[in-house]
Amino acid sequence: MLSPVAVIERKRDGHVLSKEEIDYLISGYASDKVADYQMAAWAMAVFLRGMTPQEIAFLTRAMIATGDVLRPLGDTPRVDKHSTGGLGDKVSLILGPLLACAGVHVPMISGRGLGITGGTLDKLEAIPGYRNNLSEGEIENQLRAVGCVITGASAKIVPADKKLYALRDVTGTVPSVALITASILSKKAAESLNGLILDVKYGSGAFMQSEAEARVLAESLVRTGNELGVSTAALLTDMTQPLGRAIGNGSEVIESIESLQGKGPADVRELTIELSARVLHQVGGASSIDSAKSMLVGFLDSGAAYERFEQMVAAQAGKLSELPKLAKASDFCACRKGIVEAINGQRIGHAVIALGGGRKFVGQAIDPTVGLEMQVRVGNCVEKGEPLVKIFASENSDYEATLKWLGEAFQIGDSQPVAVPLFQPL
Ligand code: URA
Repeated sequence: MLSPVAVIERKRDGHVLSKEEIDYLISGYASDKVADYQMAAWAMAVFLRGMTPQEIAFLTRAMIATGDVLRPLGDTPRVDKHSTGGLGDKVSLILGPLLACAGVHVPMISGRGLGITGGTLDKLEAIPGYRNNLSEGEIENQLRAVGCVITGASAKIVPADKKLYALRDVTGTVPSVALITASILSKKAAESLNGLILDVKYGSGAFMQSEAEARVLAESLVRTGNELGVSTAALLTDMTQPLGRAIGNGSEVIESIESLQGKGPADVRELTIELSARVLHQVGGASSIDSAKSMLVGFLDSGAAYERFEQMVAAQAGKLSELPKLAKASDFCACRKGIVEAINGQRIGHAVIALGGGRKFVGQAIDPTVGLEMQVRVGNCVEKGEPLVKIFASENSDYEATLKWLGEAFQIGDSQPVAVPLFQPL
């Protein structure tokens, strides 16, 4: 006879759980028959004992089954990208409209910022009026009309993850490869995707600090995604420094628009094209990754991708013409001549939070007008007094704290650091 405590004890003692046990626990939790304290104990047992690939696949399927799944619409391939999150990562805003230009559907269900990393929904909310709460019917209609949607998850999409994620957040059980894999992939699989590309970041501005940790997570995600029938691949990408120049919701929307118009920072453009081309090729939308890249470059440089972005924003009631002006700018400058040896992402992230561009507590409103604009990259030579970063601060920003964090974020010395590749295949 199954019981929550028996399943907890079996995982605590290092056993492999059966499909039946996992289904029982997850469906019981989603329907309030398993208590939060039991689920917290089980999550800790999973964190400590881990799960086999088969258990992770069972867990992911059990979580999907607790909610609605978007209906497939005819034969048009459906694709999406998931990033594990990083500083200045605005790729989703560009990739969705860009891939829609290539004739695939992109039903992107996104999240909010977590810790120091920004969230796609928060970024898009810098656009006055932008609706992030589309119903499943509205998502379908917009996919037919525009080809791409970026919205939040309704309460009906994987409700088990909503409860479990909130519980993990306060029980020290977020960084479990099994639980992260099931959390991310249950939400992506609920989009009824044919193809998924994962951007697994590592470095001081990411969830995973080392390349080795990122690789373990990426392998679990790729294996489980393919097991679910979604063609899944991953890139390991650099987060030892922010992506692009802009960090902060309003300024990241502006940088995304520049990139959609064929301009913008080289790293944002290169990574967006690489991720997009790979997933397009995965679903047969191009005969090779290189031919996919040529097609996508054309959509950026011709203005087609930007036009698609405008259509998506308008369909979601956003008013691009009313984007707020950025707050007052000032420079943070180098205190000595030398080489930028390292940029600490955690500290840059805390500087943004001190400005009011990120959250200190759940539900905190974010000021879209504040943020940072990086003026240097790792490996650059700087003179004493040269600007390292532009600060956009409002009267509500904690400017002193921002300066303190920035003062600790840049390591300027005399040696050229080893270059980290922007991305590498798994
Ligand atoms: N993002 C998610 O959606 N889930 C996790 O568990 C971690 C990051």
